[in-house]
Amino acid sequence: PATIGIIGGGQLGQMMALSAKAMGYKVGVLDPTPAAPAGQVADFQIVAAYNDIVALTQLSERSDVLTYEFENVDVAALSQQKVALPQGTKLLEITSNRLTEKSFIRDIAKVPVANFVAVDSPAMFKEAIKQVTLPAILKTVSGGYDGHGQWSINNDHDVADLLNNWPSGQLILEQCVPFKKELSIMVARDAKGQVTHWPISENVHVNHILKTSDAPAAISSEDTENIERIATRIAEALTLRGVLGIELFVNGSQVWVNELAPRPHNSGHYTIEATSISQFEGHIRSITGLPLSDVTLYEPSLMLNLLGDELTQAREDLVNHPEWHFHDYGKATIKANRKMGHITVLGKENISALRKWGETHGQH
Ligand code: ATP
Ligand code: MG
Ligand code: MG
Repeated sequence: PATIGIIGGGQLGQMMALSAKAMGYKVGVLDPTPAAPAGQVADFQIVAAYNDIVALTQLSERSDVLTYEFENVDVAALSQQKVALPQGTKLLEITSNRLTEKSFIRDIAKVPVANFVAVDSPAMFKEAIKQVTLPAILKTVSGGYDGHGQWSINNDHDVADLLNNWPSGQLILEQCVPFKKELSIMVARDAKGQVTHWPISENVHVNHILKTSDAPAAISSEDTENIERIATRIAEALTLRGVLGIELFVNGSQVWVNELAPRPHNSGHYTIEATSISQFEGHIRSITGLPLSDVTLYEPSLMLNLLGDELTQAREDLVNHPEWHFHDYGKATIKANRKMGHITVLGKENISALRKWGETHGQH
């Protein structure tokens, strides 16, 4: 069988690998941490830095198809590889930089985003806060996740603080969007250009980290169709292959895209148990040239992320919860605020019980 090479060995790579293995593919993983979550379930892991060109070439030579589980892959190194990369490098170039990403969404896909200005220096920052009304958020243009590399700018005090403690690198100042809900939608496009989307989920963040995802989102059918059209437009504008996660802000029928993830997304983990095809199977099917069918949601579902030692608490309680779909990524060390696993449940009663469990066992 063909071998799929995955750059990155975290939980997303692990769940991609599990889907690929179920379909009979062989899987190789590149990750600097020995026995990374994906490495544990793959046929082989190359233990090296993601941008180590020798290691990347080794993975390419042992694979028939290459994919990645995060967006900060070295595009130049990737372009030199001779192996098939169905997702291409343009998708990475756009999504690895918040400025190119937001410009693309606004100007090419014609979907609203928060007002934003590029900021390279303290002088540009002083100009930018005249163009973008506060409150706003200053973000590094690349490399950020779970709110890392972000500074809230609410008042003159925050401005002065930043000027005294200027962060390095290229930055973007984004106006805060007055959203009521945060939603996301996963979309995939197959080799023939057929677009498939998954049910929209409603996401709650605590300290900038995803806590829960409810699917389907409690929004009207008009708003659902509007967001599905937006997802299709973005997928087509990107000539997408594989799965793309789209994070959205909504207020009534107003929609802004927050950011794109050129891969399966944390808020789509519910699809493993709650839909007819998971986002991971969808990703593997798309990159291997297989067709995709429409997705059915079996029942409403809730996904709860397990951060830090919430994983230990959940494992101890697992014996009391036959309804839990329990996922442990097998990370070697437990760290606060680190995603260690998740739980998904289906059905109304199980959803309210799990929500309550999350509220009483959460680390916040
Ligand atoms: P992820 O882990 O999802 O990749 P990230 O570090 O890339 O996160 P963002 O998604 O840009 O960060 O922002 C994290 C959270 O901060 C958002 O989910 C939202 O709650 C809030 N946020 C970010 N940008 C804005 C904005 N322009 N207006 C209002 N809230 C925002
Ligand atoms: Mg992000
Ligand atoms: Mg985000």
